[in-house]
Amino acid sequence: MNRLDGKVALVTGAGRGIGRAIAEAFAAEGATVIATSQSASHDFAPGIRYQQHDVADENDWRRIVEETTAEYGRVDVLVNNAGIIAYEPLHELSSSDWDRVVAVNQTGVFYGMREVMPGMLERGSGSIVNVSSIWGNSAVAGAHAYHATKGAVRNMSKNAAITFATSGVRVNSLHPGFIATPLTDAQDPAVNEYVVSQTPMGRAGRPEEIAAGAVFLASDESSFMTGAELVIDGGYLAQ
Ligand code: NAP
Repeated sequence: MNRLDGKVALVTGAGRGIGRAIAEAFAAEGATVIATSQSASHDFAPGIRYQQHDVADENDWRRIVEETTAEYGRVDVLVNNAGIIAYEPLHELSSSDWDRVVAVNQTGVFYGMREVMPGMLERGSGSIVNVSSIWGNSAVAGAHAYHATKGAVRNMSKNAAITFATSGVRVNSLHPGFIATPLTDAQDPAVNEYVVSQTPMGRAGRPEEIAAGAVFLASDESSFMTGAELVIDGGYLAQ
């Protein structure tokens, strides 16, 4: 239980769901965890520090990285997990919904990587884990902006990985399949049943199963991995 000993990890969208499971798994593995999300407060067990932080706001990114660095000396691991969804197909999608999904899911990932990168490059080490989705690699009908941003996160990760490949900074993307979280709990049950029925393992995943992959990517066990896609999806993309 010490696979992340000594590491300082910033996890976004950690108020609930997958991000919360990642923050808790990181703390259990010995990391100092700064868990952030948009709400003013969330309760966490001792050992995880919660901070309000809007990933769509570049000034807020500057603040959170500066404060974390001032207090803990560095950011070793960044997990860009915060994400939102709009379900509309492209011909019914408003510009404001498009802009909001892009701002959180895609621009937020850009801001996060940009803010932590100088410190990671200076130290010659770091691991960035960007949460994409199986909808970054394949598609179902609807949710046009969500698919667009998750595809972008997949390739932004590869570009950053290649750009900094010899620097000691690794960048990988994580691709969950259907996971039971507040996000999917709020979806149309018929949609959820359909995606589960198309999942070879025949069930929803648990946030802890995604967190296990994030621990691996954050840790030195994945030291020869960069630009990779870690798919945790009950077999969905293997079809
Ligand atoms: P969730 O239950 O809806 O949780 C999302 C978290 O993101 C919440 O903690 C929320 O904050 C936070 N958040 C939303 N907007 C934010 C913003 N502007 N700034 C900072 N934080 C913000 O979602 P989830 O299912 O755990 O999904 C987490 C990630 O996994 C997302 O990127 C999602 O696209 C991806 N994913 C999920 C699934 C799935 O089946 N669940 C599958 C593939 C990929 P508050 O709690 O403070 O409101």
